[in-house]
Amino acid sequence: MTRTRYDHDRAGIAALLAGEPGYRVEQVWEGLHRQDRDPAEITTLPTALRARLEDTLVPGLREVSRVVADGGATTKWLWELHDGARIETVLMHYPDRATVCVSTQAGCAMACSFCATGQAGFDRQLGVGEIVEQVVRARRAAARRVSNVVFMGMGEPLANFDAVWAAVRRIHDDLGIGARHLTLSTVGLVPGIRRLAAEDLPVSLAVSLHAADDALRDRLVPVNRRYPLAELMDGCRDYVARTGRRLSFEWAMISGVNDRFEDAERLAALARPLRAHVNLIPLNPTPGYAVIGSSAKRVRAFRHALVRHGVTTTIRDTRGADVAAACGQLRGNA
Ligand code: SAH
Repeated sequence: MTRTRYDHDRAGIAALLAGEPGYRVEQVWEGLHRQDRDPAEITTLPTALRARLEDTLVPGLREVSRVVADGGATTKWLWELHDGARIETVLMHYPDRATVCVSTQAGCAMACSFCATGQAGFDRQLGVGEIVEQVVRARRAAARRVSNVVFMGMGEPLANFDAVWAAVRRIHDDLGIGARHLTLSTVGLVPGIRRLAAEDLPVSLAVSLHAADDALRDRLVPVNRRYPLAELMDGCRDYVARTGRRLSFEWAMISGVNDRFEDAERLAALARPLRAHVNLIPLNPTPGYAVIGSSAKRVRAFRHALVRHGVTTTIRDTRGADVAAACGQLRGNA
């Protein structure tokens, strides 16, 4: 596999710098991870060394296009990888902070019916460097401090566990973003949830539930046939018991499909014992799914029903919907 700029760990950088004074390793490492610089911009290095590193430490992402939406608050990048595969990254500004949404795979094999990435199928896994570089590149462009990273772009993070976890470590240890500000979102791969529970960084976990009965969830999230709700809830229960970490459920609001009163009651029955927080996502339109999102009124009523049952619930704002940069719309057809 081609090693790109952020695939190198400290030992890898040290090997590239053989023959140079030892302190160069730290200068390069800090330049790449703290200052978000290209090697050519690390001005503490001699010019010839900068040029050599610029050639050796090749970037993993080439910008194909960049779209700005929501009056400048949202930016979506389409990147091309060294082998031509394409992925997307989204940067969202809030009044006091910024969040980067990263992809973990080129495409996705989970085939959720309402998700554009799922409709397009799977290309390949991303390497650690390709994941970390998305954060660095977005941070370079951000007008505010990047405080949060959400693994909610293209792909299923827990189906690429090793690379994703190595990226989490690097984003935490070297890019300096706190563990509670890192959120992994999963379709519900139970073995991955169990592995995550054994890791030492208390990152946040979001489970894309979308349905609280197996018949409906089988249709919306096909992996439910492999890990049905009872098994998934077992995994979630163990996760919460073992880690004491916060768990949230994602629920895309689909008109007439999962926004009925009985859906809210079933969801509340799953969420309450786990003290899970529910995030309602208004469904974003995608080409391969004909059903529309619930009305704003219906979303509010659903939220109200959950709150009455003692479940804390927020309605996620839809960023970048007008430029197909919202949840489930990432697909990279420039
Ligand atoms: N594979 C992971 C992370 C990527 S998707 C997962 O499934 O959690 C991030 C979130 O966006 C998931 O909750 C996903 O179900 C949701 N999503 C996908 N398509 C959507 C759409 N069209 N509208 C709203 N949310 C969508």
